[in-house]
Amino acid sequence: MVECYIALGSNLQQPEEQLKQAILALNQLPKSRFVVASSLYGSAPMGPQDQPDYVNAVAKIETSLAPLTLLDQLQALEMAFGRVKSERWGARVLDLDLLLYGDQIIDHPRLKVPHVGIAQRAFVLLPLSEIVDELFIPKLGRFADLLLKIEKQTLWRLPDESNEVKRA
Ligand code: AMP
Repeated sequence: MVECYIALGSNLQQPEEQLKQAILALNQLPKSRFVVASSLYGSAPMGPQDQPDYVNAVAKIETSLAPLTLLDQLQALEMAFGRVKSERWGARVLDLDLLLYGDQIIDHPRLKVPHVGIAQRAFVLLPLSEIVDELFIPKLGRFADLLLKIEKQTLWRLPDESNEVKRA
C-alpha cells in the first residue's frame, strides 16, 4: 500500500455537503484504505473573483491502485458528482487532485505528481498540516519548509458544526 494525499475542492451546490459526500466516497475506493481527512476550510477563489468561495480539504488514503488507476477513480468521482449537478447548473462541483503518491515523481501527460500547485496553495498546505507531522515532498523538500514560505492567502477553518462529519 502506498500513502497518498488528495486535495478536495468545491464551490458550487452546497460545497460543504459536496465535500462531505466526496470524503465518504473516498472511503469506498477499491483496493484502498481511507486514513484521515482534514477539517473543512473556506478559501477565496484563485483567478476570477466573480465566483463563490471554495470549500477545501485534504485526505490521506493508502492504496494499492496504480497511479493512473487511482486518477481514473478520482476523475470518475468528479464526473459522478458533476454529472448530477450539471443537469441543473452545467458546472463541475467537485475537484479532486492527487497531491502525492508515496514518494514518487510522476510526469505523465495525464498526471503530474507532486501536484503542480502544492507549494503555493494555502488551501492545500494548511489542511495538510493538520494530518501530517513530517513529510518530504519529492522535488520540493520538507513540508515544514513549504509551510514557512507560504504567501498570505485568505483561508478560514469552517465552524465546528461544519466539521462534525470528521468526529462521527
Ligand atoms: P483540473 O481541472 O485542475 O481538475 O485538472 C484536470 C486535469 O489535470 C486532468 O486532465 C488531469 O489528467 C490533469 N492532472 C495532471 N496532474 C494531476 C494530478 N496530480 N491530479 C489530478 N489531475 C491531474
